[in-house]
This record gives sequence, C-alpha cells and structure tokens, in this order.
Amino acid sequence: MELKLYNSLTRQKEVFKPQDPKRVTMYNCGPTVYSYAHIGNARAAVVADVLFRVLRHIYGEDHVVYARNITDVDDKIIESAKEQGVDISVITEKYARIYNEDLAALNCLMPTHQPKATDNIGGMIAIIEKLIADDYAYASDGHVFFDVSKYDDYGKLSGNTLEALRGGDRVGEGEVTRKKNAHDFVLWKPELDGVGWDAPFGFGRPGWHIECSAMAKESLGETIDIHCGGVDLKFPHHENEIAQSECAHGKTMANYWVHNEFLNMGSEKMSKSLGNIKLISDLVKDWDGEVIRLALLKAHYRSELIWTEELLRQSKAQLDGWYREKKSIVVVEKPNRTSLFEIFHSDFPRAILNPLLNDLATPLWLAEFSGLKEHRALARQQLKDYEDYPEYHDMPKYDRYLIDTYFVEGLNVLGLLQKTPEEWFKGDTSDEEELEIDRLVRQRDAEKDKAIAAKKSGDKTAMGAHFKRSDEIRDQLKNMGIVLEDGPDGTTWRRA
Ligand code: AMP
Ligand code: ZN
Repeated sequence: MELKLYNSLTRQKEVFKPQDPKRVTMYNCGPTVYSYAHIGNARAAVVADVLFRVLRHIYGEDHVVYARNITDVDDKIIESAKEQGVDISVITEKYARIYNEDLAALNCLMPTHQPKATDNIGGMIAIIEKLIADDYAYASDGHVFFDVSKYDDYGKLSGNTLEALRGGDRVGEGEVTRKKNAHDFVLWKPELDGVGWDAPFGFGRPGWHIECSAMAKESLGETIDIHCGGVDLKFPHHENEIAQSECAHGKTMANYWVHNEFLNMGSEKMSKSLGNIKLISDLVKDWDGEVIRLALLKAHYRSELIWTEELLRQSKAQLDGWYREKKSIVVVEKPNRTSLFEIFHSDFPRAILNPLLNDLATPLWLAEFSGLKEHRALARQQLKDYEDYPEYHDMPKYDRYLIDTYFVEGLNVLGLLQKTPEEWFKGDTSDEEELEIDRLVRQRDAEKDKAIAAKKSGDKTAMGAHFKRSDEIRDQLKNMGIVLEDGPDGTTWRRA
C-alpha cells in the first residue's frame, strides 16, 4: 500500500517513505493550555488523527509513534495564573485535561507521547547551548536569539527567505533592538512574574519555537518522518523549528510537512482574536462527537472548511443512515485461513482505503463509502448464490460476514461508527418509545416475581396486589398495541 501526501516543504504530492517502517514517526504541534479549544483547533487535531489511523492501518498499530505536545508555559498562561493568584500548573493541568476530553469526544486516539514543555526545559537548554557554541545563536540582554543570517536555508518551508522578508520590511535601521537582524527570533527570555528556570544564559524561560524542537527530538528523534499543524504555523513557527533543529543537529528535521487549512466562520478564520469561536466543549453538548468529526472530514484537509449548522445536520443524517445499516451487521473475528470468499473480495479493504491513500481525500472516501452500501447488498446476494452450490457448503459460516466487517472496518479507519446502534439512537423519539416498552415489560416481570415470592411466604394480600399491578401493566401495554410472549428467558414483546 502506497500513501501519497502533499509535502509543504517540496510543494508537491509525494509517495510517503518512512525512514523505518517499523517505527514511523509523526509530530503535531499541540495546544497552548490557558483556555478552551475551539473547533478550528479540533480540525488540526482530527486531521492528524486520521493520518495517524491511516499510518497504523498501513504499518501496524505498534509501528507508528505519534507525539503531540502540550505548551504549558507561555505569557498568556502566566498572566492568567497571576490574575487568578494560582500556580501556572493549576491553569495548565485543567485545560490540558479538558483538551484531551474534548478530543476523546471526537474519537481522536491518544497520541503515543504527549510531552509537556515544562518537562523538557533541559533539552531546550541543551539545544540552545549547542547553537551558541556553533555560533548560530547569541546572548543579548538576558535573551538568547537565533541569528537567521547564519542559516542559508532559512525560508525553505514557507518561502519567507531573508530576501523576501527584507523586501517587505519596515523594521527601520534606527530601531533600538537587542537583535542583530530584525528577523532573529528568541530562544530564551528572562523570567516573567517569577516563572523561570536556571540556565547558563540566565534565569528565564524558553521561546515558543524551541519547545517543539526539543520535544520532537526527545519523543521521536532528530529526524522525524512527518510534522503536522495548521497552515498558520508554517511561518514563523515551523520555519524557526527547522532553523533551530537543523543547525543544532546537522540533520533534516522532518521529511514531510503536512499542513491543514483553516476552518472558517463565513469568510473569516475562526480565531480567538476575531471573537468568532465555537468551543468544542459547547458543541458536544448539542451534537454527538461523531457528528462533529464527520463534519470536519467533509472537506479535504487542504481546503478551507466553512463551519455551519447545516453541515452538522447533514452529518447527523448521514450517520443515522450508517447506524441503521449497522443494525443489520454482525462483525466477527477474521478467520485466520484464507477462504474462497475472502479471495473474492480481497480488494475490498484496499478499495476502502484508496481515496485516503491519495493525500487523505476524505470527501472522496465518503462518496465511495456511500456506494459500499450497494456493494453490501450485492455481495449478500452473491453469497446466497454460492450457498446454493453444494461445493461451497463447507464454507465456514462466518465468511458471509466478512463484507459486513469491511463496512465497519472502513469506518473505523476514519474513527466513525464507534458506537452500537442502540447507543446511537438512544434519545430518538422512535427509540424512546421502545425503551419505555422495555421498561414496562421489565416492571411487569418484577411484579410477577414479587407476587410469586409473596405466595411462597403465605402473604396473600401482597400476592394479590402484585398480580393486580402486573395485570394492569399488561393491559397498559395492550392498549399501546404490544403483545407479550412469556418464554423461558423471560418476557419478550412484539407489536400486534
Ligand atoms: P493554537 O492553540 O492557536 O496554537 O492552535 C492549535 C492548532 O490549531 C494549530 O495547529 C493551529 O494551526 C490550529 N488552528 C488554529 N485555528 C485554526 C482554524 N481556524 N482552522 C484550522 N486550524 C486552526
Ligand atoms: Zn510546534
């Protein structure tokens, strides 16, 4: 199986070749945890999750290592902690927990590693020391800066080379600055409100970019296979990650860069600063997490996605249809011998994955998947035909369910259809009635049991009362058009 990915670094679609198929590595820039995450942030996480799932499918679950960091030191966090008079960890632990809960509701798998910036300060200091020693960085007035003029490849990811940047530069010559060049960026800065760590270049805290360089190296190694994130991170964040890591380690930082486009409200990017955000934690109150997830996957990750209520409604209807289909599905263990049926349909898992293998084309996949419903009907008919021939009679029974298994597995790859139909339809009006009927039937059984127990203990009054109540419930059900059938495993019911 060959996965093609659009690599932002080379600006073309490429066949993905991991350094080691037994240990495929991916890194995703995680949240800065000082408040709730919005659905735009969720898009970045869900896209990375789909990539993680597809890679696991291709290389095996134990052969993909995914790190998504937690940025738990930052000016906004420090300000917020100061306002509330608490330690920064009170803020960061709360919002990191909420972030993970939000994403779990959207069926995102937990990454293999979730490194925290504050646990990796030593690694950041080590990289900064190396950069200073090799003359890529310099200390100035309690700060350490990366000297962009020392790195020839600066701008290779975003196109913002120093030449391009200088063209549009209005940072005047006369500006008083601690920096040698206007575009030098900070690796280390002095403490803020007492938050800092001891370092050879002074008590202070790391710049944002160096955090990811250190955490990616620590969790995955000096060269990683895939680095993901939203397009807004391409510059300066990712460009600066590359500069630091490549100058410190003398190696390519990431072979493939995968960037998701924005989620928009109307024509504007959803962002806190524009005040047009929808929080994940609010949306999951009104919509099942799978509905939100499907809505996020309806556009290709490199296209903008306009967020609307209608998108959510459509996604809900589509999932309802699939769950109705799932009701008739029995998933069984894949037999470990290759059966005739399996050979006949061995192209199915492939067909399911194909659009995803082409740069994670989720819209195409969703279209193909709708077609699978017809395939299911067809395959069942074919199977029935086979069964009419004696030579196929010794086929193991479970083979007929393979096609159903593929249906479910196909949706598994996208992290959808993870519930039982019963869980899914709970709360729907038609199912509410069924639940009420079940409840009454169980209540009637309980009344009958109590009457029998009362009879055994000789309490005739109680016996009479419980039988009377059980009859009343039976009549109530009869009026609802429900017929009860007493059987060895208790009472079952059907509509008259
Ligand atoms: P932040 O917490 O702002 O650093 O964002 C976390 C992740 O969400 C990053 O990968 C961002 O690129 C991504 N992101 C932020 N806003 C949006 C948006 N409106 N649409 C898509 N991705 C976004
Ligand atoms: Zn990052």
